Amino acid sequence: MKTGVLGLQFDNVTMDEALSRARELLRGDHAAMVVTPNAEIAYEALKSEELRALLNSADLMLPDGSGVVLAAKILKTPLRQKVAGVDFADGLLGVLEETGGKLYLLGSKPGIGELAAEKMREKHPRLNVCGIADGYFKDEAAVVEKINAAAPDVLFVCLGAPKQERFMQAHREALNVRLMAGLGGSLDSFAGTVKRAPRWMIRMNLEWLYRLIKQPSRFGRMLRLPKYIWAAVCERIRGKKKWEN
Ligand code: UDP
Repeated sequence: MKTGVLGLQFDNVTMDEALSRARELLRGDHAAMVVTPNAEIAYEALKSEELRALLNSADLMLPDGSGVVLAAKILKTPLRQKVAGVDFADGLLGVLEETGGKLYLLGSKPGIGELAAEKMREKHPRLNVCGIADGYFKDEAAVVEKINAAAPDVLFVCLGAPKQERFMQAHREALNVRLMAGLGGSLDSFAGTVKRAPRWMIRMNLEWLYRLIKQPSRFGRMLRLPKYIWAAVCERIRGKKKWEN
């Protein structure tokens, strides 16, 4: 079931349901696209119809942050839970290990994908990582060719938003994969080069604060979070839906 939050059509699912959807999509016959917007990118989508349409064209849209969940609550169209992209990715590793599917890692700085693959295999020894490419390339067609040559079932696209979404959209037809997911900085997180917040902070919906303390340079872009919440408050007060899509 879809739930509209400020113009974005989120799948209102639990993590288990998200993974079941992924299993279905893996059995499909086209490159299914999964997006995981957080409040920052959702705020950008508020201002760009083109970005909104791009995100809404995904087969599965998961709410990556507490900001989106809070906005949905303010708008009285609550989402069941936050489904963080990195947690979804972690769940997918289990699915791939079980089904014997192949995974390709695209994105992050050179060397990070290799490190991430090593860490993934520690937890999922039977995981088949069939290819790795860093996210700093000029020739997109060559990257698509490389991915297709490795014939993965799942492609993690970790180029940051909205670059990763634009990449997936541009090559949706050409990419011979079953499922591709835009997962931002997840490879850094798997590799351990960027640590996730302690559990208690995640539980208290303070992961954004942890990231801000660790990477103060994110301050500017994180200002989009309160602006996004403010947009939800305004829409609630106005009481009319501006978003028809
Ligand atoms: N990145 C990349 N290619 C680029 C720009 C960024 O591979 O041209 C990677 C970057 O190394 C990082 C990720 O994309 O691993 C973006 O991480 P961030 O946490 O900023 O993304 P978010 O999830 O917040 O969009």
